[in-house]
Order: sequence, then structure tokens, then C-alpha cells
Amino acid sequence: MSQPTHTTAELRALDHAHYLHPFTDHKDLGSRGTRIIERAEGVYLWDSEGQKILDGMAGLWCVNIGYGRRELADAAYKQMLELPYYNSFFQCANPPAVKLAAAIAEIAPAHMNHVFFTGSGSESNDTVLRMVRRYWDLKGKPTRKTVIGRINGYHGSTVAGASLGGMAPMHEQGDLPIPGIVHIPQPYWYGEGGDMSEEEFGLWAARQLEEKIQQVGEENVAAFIAEPIQGAGGVIVPPSTYWPEIKRIVDKYQILLVVDEVICGFGRTGEWFGSQYYDLKPDLMPIAKGMTSGYLPMGGVIVGDRVARTMIDEGGEFFHGYTYSGHPVAAAVGLENLRILREEKIVEYVKQEAAPYLQSKIAELADHRLVGEVRGVGLLGALELVKNKATRVRFVEKGTAGTLCRDICVRNGLVMRAVGDTMIMSPPLVIRPSEIDELVNTIRQCLDQTA
Ligand code: PLP
Repeated sequence: MSQPTHTTAELRALDHAHYLHPFTDHKDLGSRGTRIIERAEGVYLWDSEGQKILDGMAGLWCVNIGYGRRELADAAYKQMLELPYYNSFFQCANPPAVKLAAAIAEIAPAHMNHVFFTGSGSESNDTVLRMVRRYWDLKGKPTRKTVIGRINGYHGSTVAGASLGGMAPMHEQGDLPIPGIVHIPQPYWYGEGGDMSEEEFGLWAARQLEEKIQQVGEENVAAFIAEPIQGAGGVIVPPSTYWPEIKRIVDKYQILLVVDEVICGFGRTGEWFGSQYYDLKPDLMPIAKGMTSGYLPMGGVIVGDRVARTMIDEGGEFFHGYTYSGHPVAAAVGLENLRILREEKIVEYVKQEAAPYLQSKIAELADHRLVGEVRGVGLLGALELVKNKATRVRFVEKGTAGTLCRDICVRNGLVMRAVGDTMIMSPPLVIRPSEIDELVNTIRQCLDQTA
């Protein structure tokens, strides 16, 4: 039996009456009401009023292979009929989850050979917090409990995820971070570099980690967690000096390195993982999003040999896991997603064609009077909107220009996201050059209308 159909007005009324949305000020929905997205194909969305919109954000940075891939629906359908669910607790597994763990180990850095499955990026970071503490307990160093994150980093919105992240508005709601999590400044040169050169600032920001380790006491620090490139914080690309210095410090103090690959993983930088782009050797990599291209919820933590061997050989039972860890239908979709990424050489396409083209086209926007800085890596990009380019003076009320520009973009058929006054983009990895032209031409028109 099919569901009854509803008009847009009826859906909006139901939405208004019953639906509490994540990250939404419901009063902002105003008289127009929620935008209802009904269908999608390739890099385009259609809303319930028939407007065609280019999705410059790949949903929430996740629809890596683009919309409308039948193969993923077929994989889910087949798996649902064969085995819709069975748990992976208590010495059990299912074929797609086993195969997906092995397939992910193949594309991960060579020293990372195990995967712990979760249902989302936030759950992956909850798992990280428990795993790093467990590791140090097993190593006989139970005081090593503190995890160091970064101000304005994002690691999800569960209690652990939001605590590991450094988003002040999230911390203000509910007494976060929880004890045992501290933060250092972010490597945001354009906004916070002052008089330092980009390279000097990168070193300064990295050395904040060493200062924090000394302040907390080396014997109390378990791990450092960071995104290769901060996504939700505003596509903050670290200066070239940053990651090499972080690597030096992590090695010196032998703390665990957690690289959050929830956005950068599965091809966004033109490598399989951001860690490969920056030549990092993480102990743990939380993943989600591009793992299934968002077609079904799934996450995981890729675990390096140092932690995995300790957990397996010395650990006994780890009292942790989720009902949907290694869900067979999500895993079947993840496997099919990986097959498509590999066989269609989508990561290579990003590296060799799409990313160089997108970066060269957005660089041209630097001549616009509102644009203070253009930056990006792979298929991630950001435009900083400022009132005065020479002095980098911002708009009086932070976020006004960004929100205005974002709304103008949607009216012109383009989804971009505004982080304060930074316009960010993260399109599907399969975006074609002609679609990149459309994206960049539309942004320019929208900037003109914002100015
Ligand atoms: N980590 C990073 C880097 C993210 O960007 C996100 C979500 O945007 C998360 C973790 C949380 O993932 P989820 O929303 O699937 O819980």
C-alpha cells in the first residue's frame, strides 16, 4: 500500500506541527516554511515546488558519488531480502560487514588494518574516546586520559563528539566539554594569524599542542584529535608547516594521533583519506559520510596496528558497540559505493581533473570586492566575505553577509553553506567541469547581489 500524497503546504503544516529539526532555529523558518527536497539526480536536487538546485554541499559533505545511483538501491534491496539485520556482537558477523572491513583496510594507510563499525560520525568519535582510554589502561598508564582537540573543530554532536569538538555555541548548551577534554587554537591563519606569515603561524598553532601537553602533564595525555582540514569550522586549510610540526610533537610525546576523516575520507581531497594527502600516520581514523555516500547511515573507526594489536592481544572484551555496528544493509551499500569509487576511478578524477579545475575557477573569485580570501583543497572550498579586503575588516554583525549570500544562492538554484561570513562548498566528487562552471558563475552572480 502506498503512502498518501501531500501538497507542499500540507507537508509544511505537518512539519511545523511535529518535526523538531537538528541545527535549526524554528522561528527562522518564517512564513515561507521548510524547504522540502523531493528528489535528486547527479549533482542536482529538486524541491517540492519544482525548483532545480545544484547541490554545492553534497548534502552534508557526504554524497560523494552523486545522487540517483541505482546500484546502491539494488544492493540494499538484495541485502534486505537476504539478511536485513543481525548483530555483530557476541562472536557473530555478516558477509557484507566482513568484506567492507577488508575493503576499507585495503585503501587505508598501510599500518591500518582493522575497522570498528558505528552508525555515524558522532558515534565514531564516542568510540574514539573510549578506545584511546582503553588503550592506555591496557598499556598500564591509566592516568593518560586527557584528549586534546581544537577550538572550532567539529567531531559530532553527541556528548563526546561535541566535547571533542571545539564549537563554543555547542559547549554553551549543556555544560560541555565533559572533563578530560581540552582544546588548543585552530590553524586559521586568515582569521587569527595577526602579523605572522602563514608559515610562522602554522608553526605557532602546532606548538600550542606541545604547550598544552606540558600544561596538562605528559603522563596525563591520551591523544590529539583533529580534522585534516576543518570542515564545519569553515574549510580551514592549515598552513604547510602545521601538520609536519604536529607529527613531530605527537612522536616526541608518543600520544595517539586521531585524524577525523568523516569529511575528508573517501576521496574528498583527491586521495582516499586526508591523512594520505598530508602524509600522516594516524592511530585512529573516525569515518562516516562518504563511506556510503550518505545513501544509508554508517560510520566506523579505522584502527592502526599499534592500538588494534593491543586491544586484540591484551584487551579481552571491549564493552562497547552499537546495535547497528556493521549493519548488513548499510555495509552492502558501503561495499557497492566503494566498488563504484574504485571502478569509475572517481578519486583519481578528483585529483587529476575536478579539484584542479574547481580550485582554479574559485581562485578567480578573489577579484570580487566582497571576497577577502579564497582557499581550498580537493573538492573543498571557502570564500571569506569581508567589508574591507585590504584591512580584512569584517561585517559588523558576523554572519549577516554569509546568511544573505547563502539565501540568495538558493534563490538562484545553488546550495552553499555559510559559516559566519565564510561561504563554503563541498560538491559531489562526480561534478563535471561544466557543472563547476555553473557553480562558480552562480556564486559570482550571488556575490554581486549580496554586495
Ligand atoms: N566529524 C566530522 C569531521 C564531521 O564533519 C561530522 C559531521 O559533519 C562528524 C564528525 C559527525 O558526524 P555525524 O553527523 O554523522 O554524527
